[in-house]
Amino acid sequence: MCGIVGGTSERNILPILVEGLRRLEYRGYDSAGVAFKKNGSISVTKNKGRVDQLAKKLNLKTNQSNLGIAHTRWATHGIPSEKNAHPHHSKNIFVVHNGIIENHNHLKAQLKAEGIRFSTQTDTEVIAHLIRMYTEKGQSFEKAVFNTIKKLKGAYALGIIDKN
Ligand code: GLU
Repeated sequence: MCGIVGGTSERNILPILVEGLRRLEYRGYDSAGVAFKKNGSISVTKNKGRVDQLAKKLNLKTNQSNLGIAHTRWATHGIPSEKNAHPHHSKNIFVVHNGIIENHNHLKAQLKAEGIRFSTQTDTEVIAHLIRMYTEKGQSFEKAVFNTIKKLKGAYALGIIDKN
């Protein structure tokens, strides 16, 4: 398990998120990523490797945001790669996760049967799809998150953004 940072601020949140990730580096990780709100949409930047490289990609001098989530990953399911790095998303839902979803195979099979396509090898991706599925059934974001958590078995700390 590695690190999660999330926040909202009147100042630019991006340097704060990166500093948070730097403080968590001692825990070990193989990749890092950030999702942040910009001009009404969510941007995602990921990097296999160091937080410093992620910071360069993020272009902290020109990028501005007031809301974001960030993650350092220590892969448990799926190889260390940019694709498997968090955040993961399903339409409007963006998720960072530390821990392990033990019943992810079972949940994945159920979601696939509903026509959901997976784009990573991680256990985490089921969380984003489940929340999206509940919101599309008309549930509020909060309710969708709580109903998703009821389905998860394992250990998890989560940071989640709904674009809306
Ligand atoms: N199980 C998740 C993955 O493999 C999260 C690992 C972590 O805690 O960093 O992507």
